[in-house]
Amino acid sequence: MPDVRYPAALTLADLRRNLAAVDTRIAEACHRAGRDPAGVRLLPVSKTVDAARLRLAHEAGCRELGENKVQEAWGKAQALADLDDLRWVIVGHLQGNKAGLVARFASEFQALDSLRLAETLERRLQAEGRGLDVFVQVNTSGEASKYGLTPAEVPAFLRVLPAFSTLRVRGLMTLALFSSEPEPVRRCFRQLYQLREQWRQAAPAGIDLSELSMGMSGDFEIAVEEGATVVRVGQAIFGARKLPDGHYWPAESSASTRSEHEA
Ligand SMILES: *Cc1c(COP(=O)(O)O)cnc(C)c1O
Repeated sequence: MPDVRYPAALTLADLRRNLAAVDTRIAEACHRAGRDPAGVRLLPVSKTVDAARLRLAHEAGCRELGENKVQEAWGKAQALADLDDLRWVIVGHLQGNKAGLVARFASEFQALDSLRLAETLERRLQAEGRGLDVFVQVNTSGEASKYGLTPAEVPAFLRVLPAFSTLRVRGLMTLALFSSEPEPVRRCFRQLYQLREQWRQAAPAGIDLSELSMGMSGDFEIAVEEGATVVRVGQAIFGARKLPDGHYWPAESSASTRSEHEA
């Protein structure tokens, strides 16, 4: 069943209303945490939303869109190619064979989690004469079904990244545990924040860990309270998706559907 917390936004007025409501909630979370709302970027995540509605989102002020499947994003980018101020951000796990497509049109990739993928992206980006903003994905939930490096793997990974001249490292990204309880979710965000504080000193020159991408429709306020600088919000802007989250991030017991949440 679609989540009743997220009414569908079908018109320009709906989208404006939902965007304003999310902005307000971000501002309130910032206020609680003593933060400046200007330090939090709202990245609208538009997977499953068709190009016609994304044109309205652009009209409502969206200048970047996050997608978790590269092929789907590419189709929409072509349909909206006339909107030349629109940036595309890939937020989901990427298979190496899709790296070439990302190199063609994406401005940012938030799920860098292997050396091999960094090598492939570097080669493809060089061929395109392009660069890419990247976030290193960290698994803070300990769930095997979530992608990302383990916290222990991150320092060594950061050390090799300066070798990739096309990849501009901006920070870290995580998906929290899926839980209706706020505390375990908060712990994931707090862990990413603390790891970032710890690694910032040791990060090699050129590796910028300023950004923390964490928080989605169900938990972005907690993420903001814990230091998020980017929140990735889909359903609270566009309306509930028909498929449950398990379709995008399968439970550990249903590894056979894991490919559904791969870019
Ligand atoms: C879909 C998605 C989001 C947004 O989730 P919503 O529940 O729609 O807010 C955030 N991050 C990633 C990686 C996603 O795939």
